[in-house]
Amino acid sequence: TFDISSLLREHIRTMTPYSSARDEFEEVSDDFIFLDANENPFGTATGEKYNRYPDPYQRAVKEKLSKVKHVPTENIFLGNGSDEPIDLLFRAFVESGKDNVIILPPTYGMYQVSAALNNVELRKVSLTESLDIDTEEVLNTIDQHTKLIFVCSPNNPTGNSVSVDRIEHLLNNFNGIVVVDEAYIDFSDQESFSQKLDQYPNLVVLQTFSKAWGMAGLRLGMMFASKEIIRVFNIIKPPYNINQLTQEKALECLDNEDKVKEMVSVLISERERLKDELSSLPRVKSIYPSDANFLLIQVEDANNDYDKLIKSNVVIRNRANVLLCDEGLRISIGTKEENDKFIEAFKAL
Ligand code: PMP
Repeated sequence: TFDISSLLREHIRTMTPYSSARDEFEEVSDDFIFLDANENPFGTATGEKYNRYPDPYQRAVKEKLSKVKHVPTENIFLGNGSDEPIDLLFRAFVESGKDNVIILPPTYGMYQVSAALNNVELRKVSLTESLDIDTEEVLNTIDQHTKLIFVCSPNNPTGNSVSVDRIEHLLNNFNGIVVVDEAYIDFSDQESFSQKLDQYPNLVVLQTFSKAWGMAGLRLGMMFASKEIIRVFNIIKPPYNINQLTQEKALECLDNEDKVKEMVSVLISERERLKDELSSLPRVKSIYPSDANFLLIQVEDANNDYDKLIKSNVVIRNRANVLLCDEGLRISIGTKEENDKFIEAFKAL
């Protein structure tokens, strides 16, 4: 059985959150005068209305997001990118010098950085040769102090989705939290784990507005989890973690999901085109299956290709020395024109 409060770090269980006089109000209304938060009453130097603190709980954004994602508002936490909830997961659950977390390399780099920042023991269980979870090895690596397992699906940097059965096997057999990072889910046919929150109290799902939604510069990440976990996150988060401009832009973009779907479908067809073009080139040894907006390819000499591409002003990601990505290069899918330029530069190497 899963008991969230016994999983939390001890001092977090009794913490009181920062409070403001405005906690009861959803929006700054014209009926009140607000002399409680030491703001500037006039506006910005450029005359814009960013002088008020934003809604700390982003209620309007969550209402709209709830409909788009089919997740109740009480199960949603928004962060300054999904990197913020990743860090808060450590701060909420993992005690330095006592607890540990598990990652499944090769995977997204921030789990390790957050573990290091929080001075927490990190255990690594490599993905299998077929780039799936080695569930037996993960379960062998867990002990009573293991708090989090990070599963990235579709996985960065390989691009493939891991199998749903194996993630569920971990959820069923681990008493800590399984974090399923779905930053790239919009580019795959997989159903989101956000629809399984009722089934698994120890499930945390991460998504982001940085990829399919095209909002990386605005920094907005989503976490879906049980109401109990969300309640704790609302206590420990920085009070105004999502700024006013980001909340406004998110509301506008959420009204335009059709446009997002259109961009995603262009990116997927460009991904498939790029895959076809690359597979005909002798210098490409293999192409990893991708459910994401990037391709990982294997070449003869990744460092050499990477350096030469930079000289022709094309920047990709060098994964030459990453586990299971030997001589790997990771290429984000760009516009048709950008992809053509990449192919041209790559052919000219
Ligand atoms: N998770 C994965 C798997 C990612 O690849 C990234 C970004 N590269 C993130 C999370 C973080 O995204 P953001 O903080 O922009 O939401």
